[in-house]
Amino acid sequence: MPQSVTIKWIYATGLLIILILSLSWSYRAIGQQAITELADQSQNRLTLFVSNLTATLDKYEHLPKLISTNYRLSKLLQQPGSEVLNETNRYLKAVATTSGASDVYLMNQKGTTLASSNWDLDHSFIGMNFNFRPYFQQALKGNTGRYFALGTTSHQRGYYFSYPILSQQSVIGVVVVKIRLAEIETAWADQGNHFVVTDDDGIVFLSTQAEWTYHSLRPIDKTRMARIEDSRRYLGKSIRPLQMEQLDKLEQDVTRISFASNTQSRPDQFLHLSQKIADAGWTVHLFANLAPLRDIQILRTSVAGFAMLILLLLIVLYLTNRQRRMALQGSTELLEKRVQQRTLELQNEVEERKKAEQSLIDTQAELIQAAKLAGLGQMSAGIGHELNQPLTALRNYAENAQRFLERNQLDEVKGNLQEINEITDGMAGIISQLRGFTRKSSGERSQVSVSQAVAQALGMFQRDIESRSIELNTQVSPELSIQTDPLLLNQVLVNLLSNAIHAMVEVGEPRIDIEASSDAEVVVLRVSDSGPGLADDVIENVFDPFFTTKELGMGLGLGLSISYRIMEILGGRIEAANIDSGGASFRLYLANE
Ligand code: ADP
Repeated sequence: MPQSVTIKWIYATGLLIILILSLSWSYRAIGQQAITELADQSQNRLTLFVSNLTATLDKYEHLPKLISTNYRLSKLLQQPGSEVLNETNRYLKAVATTSGASDVYLMNQKGTTLASSNWDLDHSFIGMNFNFRPYFQQALKGNTGRYFALGTTSHQRGYYFSYPILSQQSVIGVVVVKIRLAEIETAWADQGNHFVVTDDDGIVFLSTQAEWTYHSLRPIDKTRMARIEDSRRYLGKSIRPLQMEQLDKLEQDVTRISFASNTQSRPDQFLHLSQKIADAGWTVHLFANLAPLRDIQILRTSVAGFAMLILLLLIVLYLTNRQRRMALQGSTELLEKRVQQRTLELQNEVEERKKAEQSLIDTQAELIQAAKLAGLGQMSAGIGHELNQPLTALRNYAENAQRFLERNQLDEVKGNLQEINEITDGMAGIISQLRGFTRKSSGERSQVSVSQAVAQALGMFQRDIESRSIELNTQVSPELSIQTDPLLLNQVLVNLLSNAIHAMVEVGEPRIDIEASSDAEVVVLRVSDSGPGLADDVIENVFDPFFTTKELGMGLGLGLSISYRIMEILGGRIEAANIDSGGASFRLYLANE
């Protein structure tokens, strides 16, 4: 695996671990936060519930005292069975209907009901005795009574308010207002929160969770239980404790609890808050279910996790982009630097090439000159001979002319002087050719007659041609002329002729053919000989500098390479071949201008 990939994996694993740790921390923090929120909300709901309950109770608290002031009640108590009974019954019914109380009734001092709002119903209280009820006893003592109990006839939970009816400082009866509590349960029933009201023994008598009713929130000892049974508050219902387990205490009056359950493997957990209602001796409890909290916790953690993931992705994206940008920038800079460097190198190369070209041109010019001088050296012996012969002839003609003058043979003198004249012309020709040969080319072009150029070159080898009886066959039209550098063309021709003559040293019938042909664009000048021709390995290298088959000191191997370069300079070319009869043949292609 490449190193960069391994590093990426390490980064990815690191990020994943950070993500998991952050999520578990968030999960816990969110849980705590949610519990605190729930505790606050529950506290508010509990306060609301308590004030609602208190308000309901308060509404009826003073009602018995108010009723007790009605004259009918005392009259009935003092004269039971009198005609005021009906009036009293109706009055009590009117009070119950108007106030919303369940029942309103009047008891004599023995606890027997004399009049009641339900006098006309099946479960009428009239004639029934409730002297065992604590509220009756409280009122009999001259106090206001309050009591919760199950109705003996209705078996419904009721709350009783009682007040004594006095006559001359003594209690002659008790008036009772009973209210039903079941409405409170339905009004406050809620999925997540369970309200529970317990009496001073911790027994649940009101609960939005029906199955909890008549259970105790704390264990009850035997004596207490006996007392409860005596009061017949719960009409002999068996009171069992709820299996409530406190898990931890979060705040004052706020605990986390769970109920042991046989059906659920994992019992529901609740937040438990409680508040006392001192007047009634009740405690109101609120159990807030923690199960939905887990859903909220999971949801919020998922949202947080999602947000973290997006944030992480954005960070990773940003970093990768930055890295890529930096890499791109780096490579662009590198590229720019390389381009600059290469440009500089190319400029240097161009400069060097120019210099090399210039030095090549200079060297070639030097070589051409050197070759000319070398050729001159070779020719010097022949030229010496060339000039010696006319000089000897000149001396002879001059001596003869002198003798003829002495004899006064003027015609012969004239003839000899004529000869001398011609000989000096010839010598001047040779010398002028030599001068031309050693001069460097000026590079200037002029209209040159091809036949004259050929004749001039041949003139330099006149002595060899004659002495070795070389047959010359020249077929060049005298009209043919081209625009060229005459000195350079001469140098090429001289070189070709020199090579041809040299190649034919041992040939029986030496012969040189020079022919010119032309079309609209090109003039081809062919110089061929009857020598041995060019061997295969020679023909391949014949234009290479310093290639020679001649003995040491006889040739430098530069003639044809220089001729090749000259032809390029002149805008033409040179080719080497063998003719059918065996000799070598060189073609010069020149632009027909
Ligand atoms: P050099 O004459 O100094 O050797 P050149 O470049 O003029 O240099 O000629 C190179 C070689 O080409 C000669 O040495 C010779 O072998 C061959 N060569 C040139 N012209 C002829 C020719 N007409 N016939 C045969 N060989 C030739």
